[in-house]
Amino acid sequence: LHNALQDMKGQLRVSCRIRPLSAKERAKNSEHAVYAVDSSHVEIALPEGVPCARSFEFDSVFRPDCPQQVTEIFEDCRDLVQSAVDGHNVTVMTYGQTGAGKTYTLFGNKSQEGLAQYMIREVFARLGDQEDGEGRPCGVTVCGSALELYNNHFIDLLRPIDKTGRQSPGVKVCVDSEGCVEVDGLAQIPAADPQELLQILRKGLHQRVVAEHAMNADSSRSHMVFTVRLNPQKGVGAEPRGRSRKLTFCDLGGCERLKRTHVVGDLQKEAIEINKSLSALSSVIEAVAGKRRHVPY
Ligand code: ADP
Ligand code: MG
Repeated sequence: LHNALQDMKGQLRVSCRIRPLSAKERAKNSEHAVYAVDSSHVEIALPEGVPCARSFEFDSVFRPDCPQQVTEIFEDCRDLVQSAVDGHNVTVMTYGQTGAGKTYTLFGNKSQEGLAQYMIREVFARLGDQEDGEGRPCGVTVCGSALELYNNHFIDLLRPIDKTGRQSPGVKVCVDSEGCVEVDGLAQIPAADPQELLQILRKGLHQRVVAEHAMNADSSRSHMVFTVRLNPQKGVGAEPRGRSRKLTFCDLGGCERLKRTHVVGDLQKEAIEINKSLSALSSVIEAVAGKRRHVPY
């Protein structure tokens, strides 16, 4: 199924979600800057009389009235869960300006769940097809980890946060024996069921806020990465079945044009770091999309 979908839909899929106007925007009589033309095209709204609106194509487009009971969006991602269960690494990433709805779409808020929560339940439902009789997924252990990347510092969101919010000690990027890029030293918390994993995610989201207060930082200048790791269990004397794989949820920092904002000091440092990391990301995406042999991870 994974290979068929990959052939059909590609290795990278890009969807666009247009959020509704906020109350503040409505009060100012603001209008949408972009609108959905159909289920795969978005156009920039131009002032009347300006010819040739620019059109952008996506794999799917979700209109402002698309509900957060993310049925539609989630349907789009359901197959990705199967790919992860089947042994592939999968990443869901939100990209856009601050206030565009990245965090809301991926992680929801206090009253609404997001894509991550839906997909986490689905992981266990799919693994449950191979359960051990007591409802535990058979043959696979599931762990969660939560990382914040801020100003090139790693903060482990599942460990106590230092009062200054400084980098968590011992967390570093490395390349594992299979050539995969890993973040070493992060707490990996095992979860026996979806409730436990959702609780781990809640803790990570809460600690993100704690860390931001400690650092007096703006959340739009950090990236958060929540990783669900599926590790095959080793049976007695048996080889592990399948390989380790990851389902990664990545909430990226805001991509606004920082050059125009004339910031100085700490804010300038944040701006430089976020620009560097987003430009590195675009090089990686171009290489993956172009199936280049060298991907500059
Ligand atoms: P970002 O993470 O991109 O900076 P947020 O996810 O924090 O943006 O969204 C900004 C605000 O807009 C939040 O108050 C959020 O609840 C609201 N919001 C975003 N997307 C939607 C949506 N599709 N429907 C309703 N409210 C939304
Ligand atoms: Mg956000």
